[in-house]
Amino acid sequence: MDYHFTEEQGLLRDAFAQFAKEEIAPHAAAWDAEDHVPMDIVPKLGEMGIMGVFVPEEYGGTGLGHIERCIALEEIARYSAGLAMMVFTHHLGVAAIVDYGTEEQKQKWLPGMCDGSCVCGLAVTEPGGGSDVAGLKTVAVLEDDTWTINGRKCFITNSHCAGVTVVTCRTGEDEKGRPLMSTIAIEAGTEGFKPGREENKLGLRGSFTGELIMDNVKVPAGNTVGAPGKGMPITMKELGEVGRASMAAIELGILRACLEDAVAFAKERVLYGKPISKLQAIQFQIAEIRCDYEASRLMLYNAAAMKDEGKVGAEFSMAKYFISEAAVRSAKRLMEIMGGYGFVNEYPAGRYLRDAVGCIPSCGTSEIQKMIVAGETLKKF
Ligand SMILES: Cc1cc2nc3c(=O)[nH]c(=O)nc-3n(C[C@H](O)[C@H](O)[C@H](O)COP(=O)(O)OP(=O)(O)OC[C@H]3O[C@@H](n4cnc5c(N)ncnc54)[C@H](O)[C@@H]3O)c2cc1C
Repeated sequence: MDYHFTEEQGLLRDAFAQFAKEEIAPHAAAWDAEDHVPMDIVPKLGEMGIMGVFVPEEYGGTGLGHIERCIALEEIARYSAGLAMMVFTHHLGVAAIVDYGTEEQKQKWLPGMCDGSCVCGLAVTEPGGGSDVAGLKTVAVLEDDTWTINGRKCFITNSHCAGVTVVTCRTGEDEKGRPLMSTIAIEAGTEGFKPGREENKLGLRGSFTGELIMDNVKVPAGNTVGAPGKGMPITMKELGEVGRASMAAIELGILRACLEDAVAFAKERVLYGKPISKLQAIQFQIAEIRCDYEASRLMLYNAAAMKDEGKVGAEFSMAKYFISEAAVRSAKRLMEIMGGYGFVNEYPAGRYLRDAVGCIPSCGTSEIQKMIVAGETLKKF
């Protein structure tokens, strides 16, 4: 199952797969059942070079690219999509600092973010609506080189464990009255900044998702990530390119879990004196899952390669949309292949379905991805 990876990428994939098998697979069911966030694995992810996989070596990173980042996420999500959510959101915040941070910010925060001692987050969504990013209400006011921030974010991954969160805030209006945003890094422990309610999620358990409350939070102007007023393009770029490829990688990991479990179950389950893998109806289900997996893999790694080459396009949205829907249908197919066994929590098929459904809203729902794809298609063709 190789996507024309280089020899080095192939070796890296083997190393990540081995790590995931040993450190994640044995615990994934319990993390889901107990809604446990395994913070003790974060330094190990740092040691493996995963937390800072795309960060330049001078800041403590592994100095690789987004293909390698997606390989890591696929391998983690093969066993625990919930844990992969923690890692992907960390990467999202880190990417904002790598792409737009000042030298001082990079030196201050990136080494800890790479070794796993500091988890990062990116907070955009608010109760007023996630798809309508321009409608967000968290306000930051700059006075005497200090931001004062007030507002509330919701559905934020790593809400209860991030050492630094990059927060998108409204900081003014342009001459046409349109909101101007800025992205501002807030460190955990800053007065007035605290996590609120932690969500009890249907799936993607094993990562925190919750509120962040900002009540007169004071941070220095030096914490602005990128130019003030440019927060909207910064947020959209990171969500669009890093976020959507990451979500697609997580969904690909779920899809691969469905494929591998479907084959294993079909070969083991004996009916009418032979394994059900001999039944054509079961073979067709497996063929559908395999086609979805192979198409998804090509879409994801093509989008990741585009990111590494500095190209932009609707491919990130196509991959996110197609693979999230493919993961949901594959999990349903796996449950069908498994009959009654697919519906009991002793087997992970139900978890795959819950996780796959949970991936759909993150970094933009399927409707939002289709709007982006349609917009580009109508211009291009
Ligand atoms: C597990 C998880 C983790 C998350 N982590 C983060 C995080 O770390 N940081 C963060 O900022 N956010 C995070 N989110 C929030 C996520 O980005 C939002 O849920 C998402 O953007 C959708 O926003 P919403 O939930 O407010 O839905 P809404 O925007 O209220 O959408 C409701 C419905 O309306 C549809 N809709 C909206 N606009 C249109 C339109 N123009 N045309 C057609 N249909 C439309 C949507 O598709 C959806 O079906 C996370 C969400 C989840 C589930």
